[in-house]
Amino acid sequence: MIPGPVEISPAVLEAHASPPPGHLSPRVIEAFGASLERMRGVWRSGPSGQPFVVAGSGTTAMEMAAANLVGPGDPVVVVHTGYFSDRMAEMLRRTGAEVRSVTSGPGEAPGDDEVRDAMEALLREGKKPRALFATHVDTSTGVRIDPRPLAHLARTYGALAVFDGVCATGGERFEMEAWGADVYVTASQKAIGLPPGLALMVVSERALAARSARKQPPPMVLDWHEWLPIMRAYEERRPAYFATPATNLILALDVGLREILEDGIDARIVSHERTGRAMRAAWSAMGLAPVPAREDLQANTLSALRYPAGAGPSLVARIAERGVVVAGGLHPEIKDRYFRVGHMGYAVTRTDMLVRTVEAIEAGLLGEGARVESGAGAKAVRSALV
Ligand SMILES: *Cc1c(COP(=O)(O)O)cnc(C)c1O
Repeated sequence: MIPGPVEISPAVLEAHASPPPGHLSPRVIEAFGASLERMRGVWRSGPSGQPFVVAGSGTTAMEMAAANLVGPGDPVVVVHTGYFSDRMAEMLRRTGAEVRSVTSGPGEAPGDDEVRDAMEALLREGKKPRALFATHVDTSTGVRIDPRPLAHLARTYGALAVFDGVCATGGERFEMEAWGADVYVTASQKAIGLPPGLALMVVSERALAARSARKQPPPMVLDWHEWLPIMRAYEERRPAYFATPATNLILALDVGLREILEDGIDARIVSHERTGRAMRAAWSAMGLAPVPAREDLQANTLSALRYPAGAGPSLVARIAERGVVVAGGLHPEIKDRYFRVGHMGYAVTRTDMLVRTVEAIEAGLLGEGARVESGAGAKAVRSALV
């Protein structure tokens, strides 16, 4: 129950567990093509969204977005909500971009007006902002931002809107087409519910045009232009090769996305909302305080929780003794003061896993010497999920 890799469904596990098929085999071609089509449904990108599936992780996907859109001297704005937006900013700096950071303390998010001010400041200097980067759910703090006004703001300034959805895609509401977002990236091991190993993203026509306008091509393996003919071929059910795809994961992706779309992406999001509420009810009943400063900033895909009086970082190992794996802190400023619990993907369909997690945390807290009302957390999560 860490914020990725997450538990996966039996059907996804089965699809993944096969002798490695060739990347030109009919099975892989069909699974690849169907996955690309399904991604548009999960991303709500509309028919013009271009999906990319590449071996790698969420960081690879972030790097692809940076490398294809931004080059030396390009002015960009980064909305900081924690560890992963800091990483995004560092990647952008390494491309030579001029990075303007809009920051906030751990557990907080900058206001949209502060982001607007950063855009205006660039304009006053005669610099047209090229792109706005933000993290949908920051996994280091459990903070979720609302991408919609930010995408709108970016459009207003003629900038591309790029969102890191690594801990959100498939779990939190995102309407790529309706909101006018340009790039939404994720990784297979988070709310999409697969083993780790795939970088996934959908890219708008505007973003593809921005890549075409670049004078210097990005590094070859990150270049959308290298991958575009491959994606198009697979979608037309033709074999193609640029660099070997993670074929077992492609089979698993096909099944995982099909499971999401069988329920419907809306129903999936609603399940995550219900699960998020149920887990928050449990934390509150157990006297655990969230890291996010306000209720509307709390993600549905994970919880970041402050250690109560009497407990500390040894709590994570105590919970593991009960057979449940949660994660320690990640944000460098508060690392030793909180822990994190993932509740995304397949787990949201399994009340038993969620209850067992809450029970293991209660037992761990009691083992640490913290005070918890016995059974209150499990009762709260159960009654919220009936
Ligand atoms: C996990 C995560 C990443 C990094 O993904 P990797 O697959 O570990 O490379 C980036 N951004 C966010 C928001 C994440 O949760």
